[in-house]
Order: sequence, then C-alpha cells, then structure tokens
Amino acid sequence: MSVLSKPYFHDEESAFRYLEGIVWSGEPVCPHCGSVDRITKVKANPAKRIRFGLYRCGNCKGQFTVKIGTVFEHMRIPLHKALQAVYLVTSSKKGISAHQLHRTLEVTYKSAWFLLHRIREAMRDGDLSPFGGNGGVVEVDETFIGKKKGVPTKRAYHHKMKVLALVDRTSGKARTMVIDNVKTETLMPLVLKHVDRETRVMTDEHAAYRDVGRWFAGHGFTSHTKGEYVNLQDRTVHSNTVEGYFSIFKRGMKGVYQHCGEHHLPRYLAEFEFRYNNREALGCNDQDRAGNALRGIVGKRLTYGGSAATN
Ligand SMILES: [Zn+2]
Repeated sequence: MSVLSKPYFHDEESAFRYLEGIVWSGEPVCPHCGSVDRITKVKANPAKRIRFGLYRCGNCKGQFTVKIGTVFEHMRIPLHKALQAVYLVTSSKKGISAHQLHRTLEVTYKSAWFLLHRIREAMRDGDLSPFGGNGGVVEVDETFIGKKKGVPTKRAYHHKMKVLALVDRTSGKARTMVIDNVKTETLMPLVLKHVDRETRVMTDEHAAYRDVGRWFAGHGFTSHTKGEYVNLQDRTVHSNTVEGYFSIFKRGMKGVYQHCGEHHLPRYLAEFEFRYNNREALGCNDQDRAGNALRGIVGKRLTYGGSAATN
C-alpha cells in the first residue's frame, strides 16, 4: 500500500465521498436553500449523463454536488485527479509546475494550469488576526523578485516585484503580501495592521522601519550592510527566520515557477505560505496538509482576467 493507492485518488465515487467528508462532515447541505433534510442521493449513471456525487433537495427541488460554491465548481477534470494534484502540490517542498502536472495527471497543460490556480486559491489563508502579542517576537522583512512587466531594468529594485513577509516566532507562522514599494508610508501601515502592539519587532536597518520602536513593545534591528546578522549583546535580535522563509520561497520560484506575472504573484505567495504554515515541524504531515488545503476550497470562487499563457 502507498498513499497514492487510496481509492479516492482513483475512483470518482470515492473521491466525492472523501471531499464530502471534509466539506460537509458527511452531512449534505443544499447550497441553494441551506436545507439539510429530505436530501437524496442520485445514483451516478454516465450513460445517462448523470454526474457523480449528485444530490437532490426535496425542499427546493434543486440539484447539487459538493463542488458547488467551492474553487472546484465548473472544473472539468475528474475530481479524483484534482485530489491527486492537491496531494502532489501540498506534499512537495517547492510545489509542482503546470508542465509536470500536465504530464503526471495526463490532462491538458491548460487544465493543469487552471487546476493549480484553483488549488493555490484554496491554500489562501483569510486569517487577518495580528501576529505577535504578549511580548512575543515578530520578524519583518522585504524581498525583491522577478521583473515587473513594462518597467525598464535599472539599478536598484524599481523593476522588480516586491514582497513583505512577517514571521511570528512563537507560532512559527508566516504571512506574506505583495507591496508596491518599500517606503515608510507603505510598510508602516502594514506592520501596524498585522502586528499586535505588545510585540518586539525585528527588522534590518532599512530606514522605513526607523519608527517601529515608537509603536511597539520593542524594536531590534541588525545592520546587514555592516555584516551583522545577530546582535551579539542580545542574540534574540535578528531577522534570520524571515530570511530563511524568503530563501525557501526564492528557491522554489526559481526552480519551478519561472516568469511569474505580478498579477499571479499573490497566489504563489499563498502557496508557499500555506506549505510553511502547515509544515512538518508544526506537527502537520502530508495527509493533514492535503486535508487542510481541501478545507480551504469552500467559500472561494475563481475569476480569471488573464490568459493561461505562462506558468
Ligand atoms: Zn434546497
């Protein structure tokens, strides 16, 4: 037996039962009227084009499957293949490319590309509660990645996409976001929004963080330009955790996701953040992680403005 021999990875009926277990805890809910009584299962019959996982509501006479209202709604590829994809994306350290998924699942490249974006959307964490608090430590840092379309390549970082990351040292969790620039008026409101005031904030010597100490329980910083990465008087003063986070992210982006456009960057950030926040060291194994991603499919719908031209 291997993980991949589980029935829900191969059999469509089992795949629906598995997802229903996660989304409904096994108790079907009509998405049209909210009813939970008088719901009957309609037996699948591909010859008569009756879909797998179909239910009928005796209250409103509507029909539905568990995919309605989730990021899997309107998905054309079989659910058991989508579940394989979720497992592959969540169990590999750096994710998986649309090309690889297209070959492994034997679906078109375009289907694989759309499926990956559905899964990334499922991985997006809506939690906005502040990090830190109770004198805990939050590390804050920015990084530059790739290239903005239509912005000439110059010195410094004007032409690069910019990402802000926070890591809460107590919970071990990260939160990341795309930012327009690294000015004080961009960074400070975000730090104030996402970090509890009763927190010691760790940054590098970047001038935009100059006033952090006025707002928070403490501000420690190291001077990377002077080669200082840990304060030797107080070794809790460093931003090495958040830098470690960026190095995982950048290695993954380089190896797997080349040429990421800025409008897709938030979804890639969500993917790396999800894997980091559901990692082994926090007590989350591969199957828990896949299950947590599937719990995230609910209440999110996808709209695509762009084309499926690149990864
Ligand atoms: Zn109903």
